[in-house]
Amino acid sequence: MYLASLRSIWYRLRSTYFLPSRLSEYREFIQECSNCGYEMHSIISFWRLLSSGAGVSDGKYMILRHDVDSDAATAENMWSIEQEFGARSSFYFRLCTLDFDVMRRIEQSGGEASYHYEELATFAKQRHIRWTEELLPFMPEIQRMFGENIRMLRQQSGLPMVSVASHGDFANRHLGMVNWLLLESCELRMELGIEVEAYDEKLMNFVTSRRSDAQYPVLWNPSNPIEAVRQSEPTVYVLTHPGRWSCNRAELVKKDTLRLVEGIRYRLPR
Ligand SMILES: [Zn+2]
Repeated sequence: MYLASLRSIWYRLRSTYFLPSRLSEYREFIQECSNCGYEMHSIISFWRLLSSGAGVSDGKYMILRHDVDSDAATAENMWSIEQEFGARSSFYFRLCTLDFDVMRRIEQSGGEASYHYEELATFAKQRHIRWTEELLPFMPEIQRMFGENIRMLRQQSGLPMVSVASHGDFANRHLGMVNWLLLESCELRMELGIEVEAYDEKLMNFVTSRRSDAQYPVLWNPSNPIEAVRQSEPTVYVLTHPGRWSCNRAELVKKDTLRLVEGIRYRLPR
């Protein structure tokens, strides 16, 4: 019994803090995409290809999206690997992971660096709102908050940020509400110049295979995208979280501590 508990603690620690870097696996994946003739795109470059009226049914397209929930340094390492193979991709940064220097270099290389937004969850956490019905009346205020943030980010970074991606927070799961609900309004998108959201159906309808990285021991959901590449799947959409690909323990501790503190605060009475 005692031994089983120790094993369980060790397994949890190992699966969180002591895994080896997976960056060589990422290089192998990008190399395979290149060898197999995939055109590697960011969200915005693929969206513009679609918008131009170009048919995508004949080619092979790999859409690469990175949500930088934590660990901007590993995001930069993944971008460097992509540079070796001429790949474009999208990196979406949260307010807490912004690195304008890295973001500008990504954009200058032909990739995309933009905003991983979470105002709905942030507002709920700030106000200790735990129920959908209680949060919905505040949607105009949440949308205003998003507008202020994206304008501020564009001004400070000089980046266009015309595609954005919704972050998934524990507060979203608790509320049963995703952050992209705030961008359901076409008027708001027009006003703020948002061309596409990373989960939009108008984009996803062209995707024939969608994969995302997952926590150890699963690693990929539903399975490794290299299989899709080897099977010549026409349009593959791969989402990764750089924080899951390195062994940057300082970043992991920072992320887990913040999550713990926010979780406790959220549950406290107002
Ligand atoms: Zn996220």
